[in-house]
Amino acid sequence: MPLSLPFDNSYARLPGRFHARLDPTPVASPGLIAVNDTLAQELGLAPQTLRSASGVQMLAGNAVPEGAAPLAQAYAGHQFGGWVPQLGDGRAILLGEVIDTNGTRRDIQLKGAGPTPFSRRGDGRAAIGPVLREYIVSEAMHALGIPTSRALAAVTTGEAVLRERPLPGAVLTRVAASHIRVGTFQYFAARGDTEALRLLTDHAIARHYPQAETALDLLNGVIAAQARLIARWMGVGFIHGVMNTDNMTISGETIDYGPCAFMDTYHPDKVFSSIDQHGRYAFSRQPDIAVWNLAQLASSLLPLINDNDEAAVETATAALRGFGDLFRAEWLSVFRAKLGLTTAEPEDADLISGLLDRMAFARADFTNTFRGLADDSARDQFTQAEAFDQWATAWQARLARDLPDHQARLRAASPAYIPRNHRIEQAIQAALTGDLTPFHALNAVLARPFDDQPKQAAYALPPRPEETVTRTFCGT
Ligand code: AMP
Ligand code: MG
Repeated sequence: MPLSLPFDNSYARLPGRFHARLDPTPVASPGLIAVNDTLAQELGLAPQTLRSASGVQMLAGNAVPEGAAPLAQAYAGHQFGGWVPQLGDGRAILLGEVIDTNGTRRDIQLKGAGPTPFSRRGDGRAAIGPVLREYIVSEAMHALGIPTSRALAAVTTGEAVLRERPLPGAVLTRVAASHIRVGTFQYFAARGDTEALRLLTDHAIARHYPQAETALDLLNGVIAAQARLIARWMGVGFIHGVMNTDNMTISGETIDYGPCAFMDTYHPDKVFSSIDQHGRYAFSRQPDIAVWNLAQLASSLLPLINDNDEAAVETATAALRGFGDLFRAEWLSVFRAKLGLTTAEPEDADLISGLLDRMAFARADFTNTFRGLADDSARDQFTQAEAFDQWATAWQARLARDLPDHQARLRAASPAYIPRNHRIEQAIQAALTGDLTPFHALNAVLARPFDDQPKQAAYALPPRPEETVTRTFCGT
């Protein structure tokens, strides 16, 4: 008997050109990898139901729950700056939307659920490695307090997917505030479909920016949300790796964990993605790329901003110019907190950059340097300790002008644990031999990133040279 979930599918009610309606393609032999109990409860779903035989069938796409309206969303996008007029969900199927226990509408989507009309040459499937990677990293981001899509569950399919070699297939159940992207707006703008743009704008406003009244309000809302998001990425050393416009949400949540990575040693130019040969999406370029993407959103919205083209461009350009100040303010607030500061002084930006510059020079571990500010171990990250000491003298003087008891504030602003690439790799390699223990152990540590967890100290260590991961791969 198929499960019944309390769906209310607003995206499915949009006109037919927004999506392709189809069911997931069943798989040979579903097996449970993980269910996220806390998230299930937040969604009003019983974890034991998801873990049951019929639950696992549903999570694998073999049984469509009652009330679902499965569909693949249409969207377009710029990939590495190149325009692709039609992308769309090529391997993801939205089962539907539920209203969670906080009253928020959430998408439930199966990623790796089989081919769709948008699959192009792809097989519609996902390999277990990228599924586990997205599960680990998206849940770690959430625990770090960073807006993100979530992982509700992961299952194996009992089928092989062919990549460079055959790999076990898996399906991730992704939960998001919505899957509407910059590329969704671009899709309709490129087709001159102003009616669809208007419907999409109303839909996005109702879901994500209820105070907004106009397309310009929506644009401003997304600009502010993305400025906030990217400052938070940078506060934990996160590199998204594939900030194409189809991977940038309107909600302001992080989405699409393909070749992403957290830095171990800090460098502003760091790139991990094997497909990012020119460093387009390098760590410190992320705010610039965000503006570039937001400009694509702005130009998609022009016909709704003003009937007069010139006036529309002028208004949208002014809105985009706001990004720089918003980002700067968010970045300062993130990094002031990481230095234990609660007040603002004009020289704070120099103090922050002073530390980051020294860290880059010393190849200091990003996470352990900031965490180490709370217990004086930051100094160990610097081969030339005088460089750090000189900075620390200025920092101490600045701290003395702020509130006392900065230790607890430092620990609350800088995690001890991030999903380090070598740990993710170890969890994936073990899973490929059938051992899920490292995957579960890693998730448990990352669920409490700001707690000291002395027994788990090994998870805070950077990779040994032979463990270092220098490249990450797009999970297709
Ligand atoms: P991504 O790089 O994951 O953002 O995906 C870019 C586009 O390629 C999206 O339209 C995806 O749906 C599509 N895609 C990625 N992998 C596959 C696959 N294995 N089969 C079909 N479509 C895919
Ligand atoms: Mg994508």
